[in-house]
Amino acid sequence: KLSLQQRLQTGAPLFSIEFFPPKTDASAEQLLRTAEALKLYSPDFASITYGAGGSTRSRTLKYARHLREDYGYEVMPHLTCVGHSRDELRGIIAEFRAAGLGQIMALRGDPPKGESNFQPHPDGLHYANELVSLIHESYPECTVGVAGYPEIHPEAPSSEDDLSNLKRKVDSGAHFVTTQLFFDNNKYFDFVDRARQAQIEIPILPGLMCITSREQALRFCDMCGTTIPAELDEQLSAAGDDSAAVEAVGTNWVFQQARELLERGAPGIHLYILNRKGPAVELMEKLKEAGFYQG
Ligand code: FAD
Repeated sequence: KLSLQQRLQTGAPLFSIEFFPPKTDASAEQLLRTAEALKLYSPDFASITYGAGGSTRSRTLKYARHLREDYGYEVMPHLTCVGHSRDELRGIIAEFRAAGLGQIMALRGDPPKGESNFQPHPDGLHYANELVSLIHESYPECTVGVAGYPEIHPEAPSSEDDLSNLKRKVDSGAHFVTTQLFFDNNKYFDFVDRARQAQIEIPILPGLMCITSREQALRFCDMCGTTIPAELDEQLSAAGDDSAAVEAVGTNWVFQQARELLERGAPGIHLYILNRKGPAVELMEKLKEAGFYQG
């Protein structure tokens, strides 16, 4: 079986999904049902997010293990610098390694709720590129992913600054980039062009989300600086309170996005599924039918 790093080099389109660690028994069941259903489409990896603090953090490792050991997923846990000293981060990386997790998504993280500026731990890290280096020091064979922002990170003063930051992460040894979610493919193609001009040569995996609620999508986009194209917003507004109609708009939009991205050479797709099964299964069925994935 090829490692993720080797698969990134084959050029075959990747398919990956992102889970978040559930907090309740009911949401744990939902995650496991989704994991079971999506296994049929042979995802290259499942990533699992890292919470802003407290007990959700140990759940990242718990569910990473569960998905790997009981469902056979290649799992990529996320890790952030928020609130951790370097020693704590080394300890978590060692736990990921001991659990057989061969890849980590290295992030700075957002400031905890109620705080507007990111404050590093007194013995911690300021930026994700430092975490990439720390992972390489303590776990050299690990495949490392980092975040990229087609519509610019909200704190970055300019797209040039944001791109130099991405370059720093690549120079620290990142193997691939996953993008923040976007709904306008032109933002992705433009970002990839700018990245290539800045000598960033690693694969840039587009991050896509199936919208299931207009309000939720607007909230997410507001937080992360993603724009919703007017045409998509019109379709969502026209669907109104009919949740099946909203879901159909969301799935259809993301299918059109995925099709164009794959046709124009994107290295795969990463789906922000919010632990939901339905829209992801429908999308994968459509992509299979269109001949993009074997399943
Ligand atoms: P960085 O790359 O460190 O960048 C942060 C900001 O600092 C940017 O504005 C950048 O331009 C600037 N910057 C970086 N280096 C320098 C420097 N040397 N000098 C000056 N400025 C600099 N959050 C979570 O809490 N948990 C998760 O699991 C999670 N998963 C994510 C997955 C993906 C694919 C994405 C796109 C985001 C995810 N996030 C997650 C959100 C992420 O933590 C936030 O977007 C965060 O604000 C920035 O993280 P980063 O790793 O991109 O930071």
